[in-house]
Amino acid sequence: MAFMEILIAEHSGFCEGVERAFRIAIETARAGKPVFMLGNLVHNKQVVERLNNFKVKTVTELSEIPAGTNGTLLISAHGVPPEVYAEAKKLKLAVVDTTCPWVKKAQKIARQLADEGRLVIIVGDRGHPEVKSLLGWSSGQGVVVENEADLVGLSLAPAKKVGIIAQTTQSTEHFNNMAASVKNKVKDVVEFDTICGATTKRQSAAIEIARQVDLMLVVGDKMSANTKRLSELCAETGTETHQIQTVDELNNDWLVGKEKIGITAGASTPEWIIEDVLTKLNYSLK
Ligand code: SF4
Repeated sequence: MAFMEILIAEHSGFCEGVERAFRIAIETARAGKPVFMLGNLVHNKQVVERLNNFKVKTVTELSEIPAGTNGTLLISAHGVPPEVYAEAKKLKLAVVDTTCPWVKKAQKIARQLADEGRLVIIVGDRGHPEVKSLLGWSSGQGVVVENEADLVGLSLAPAKKVGIIAQTTQSTEHFNNMAASVKNKVKDVVEFDTICGATTKRQSAAIEIARQVDLMLVVGDKMSANTKRLSELCAETGTETHQIQTVDELNNDWLVGKEKIGITAGASTPEWIIEDVLTKLNYSLK
């Protein structure tokens, strides 16, 4: 096989928010009390499995936690709506909150905008836990828009007061386009780009690498919103792009005829998964 070069994008893999959540979760599990994780701490199957090995139990509803457990509730890096804290208190659960500080900031802005009587438009993925949390912090005045079609369906009378925020892992370009469309329809709009710094840096670095290579591999869980976005942005450069969850999904046929291969990974992808991919690539390229 001809010589091929591998370029790894800067800022690939665990971001500071995910690293922090993972570290706190492990420390909490080691304290010895029963630990329950509401949803997935981060969107990565292998990370969640590792936590489950530390006896951290995943629940989808607080009602799944037996009464009188005297346990600890781990709140994920994506955050939760305010009522979850109240519910946990009622159940006498200790709360360990790993909500990323960037998400906390977006939640606070959502609440402030709602308090000002604004319609809170959240640009994000409707089913994502972070977006559900932002809706909760919008005090019943929030709506989620994923794309222009969603905006068309919204009643945005010119007199309406609107605030617009983003899921922390959206692309800046998409957020700016959506904000511009809202401003075309409503006069009183305040806009907060709540996209996190880690996401912006990761996306720019990935695009830069994607432009230089003839195959781009994006490593990360299919459930991970930021990995999906990364994949879309790399594909938009025109370079052949594949998202793989683990090394098992790496197809050797993709490598045929390629001279430069780029790699990036989502914020919830642990180092060990990226290393597995690199090991297989290095082996395949020999
Ligand atoms: S991607 Fe950004 S917002 Fe999400 S956990 Fe990482 S640092 Fe926090």
